[in-house]
Amino acid sequence: LETKEEYGHKTLAQDVMRPRQSDPLLVVLTQEGMSVGEIEGVIADTDYSGFPVVVSQESQRLVGFVLRRDLVISLDNARKRQEGVVSASLVFFLEHVPPQPFSGPPVVKLRGILDLSPFTVTDHTPMAIAVDIFRKLGLRQCLVTHNGRLLGIITKKDILKHMAQMSNRDPDSILFN
Ligand code: ADP
Repeated sequence: LETKEEYGHKTLAQDVMRPRQSDPLLVVLTQEGMSVGEIEGVIADTDYSGFPVVVSQESQRLVGFVLRRDLVISLDNARKRQEGVVSASLVFFLEHVPPQPFSGPPVVKLRGILDLSPFTVTDHTPMAIAVDIFRKLGLRQCLVTHNGRLLGIITKKDILKHMAQMSNRDPDSILFN
């Protein structure tokens, strides 16, 4: 496959990333303020392989990326092994958890499962470069930002689908095999 050939069309990261304008919003978790129950709700309502973690919904500033399976295992473990953890327990991806009121349920700390350096590109990054990075680093997904704000996500499958659309070829035969 000649990457440069494929991307003669100046496709940019913003053309391949999700969500599209008509799609539901990017599903993110916040580094503090969400409860065990809320995060379990997000897991139940979606089937994404992972979730970006941001400072706050307002800032959409990226903190890291957490895999769905690690979240499932960790929340399950916390409920089973950590005494007093309930749906209302707050979840922290922060390094330093602020002091909690004595009356509240124990908190769950999930900093350990956070990938603090997920790969990111800007919305204007040419896809030719992004594809090259995906290949060389063996990435599964990459996040897209604009002026430090998280905009979207590109998965390996998104790229394969996009390339297939552009060349009308079988998506599985094109890349990464
Ligand atoms: P795959 O692309 O391998 O099926 P996912 O199941 O994680 O991987 O993603 C399915 C689709 O949803 C992809 O188009 C991807 O860009 C998008 N997506 C992935 N994670 C999220 C998320 N947290 N919020 C919104 N869309 C997402």
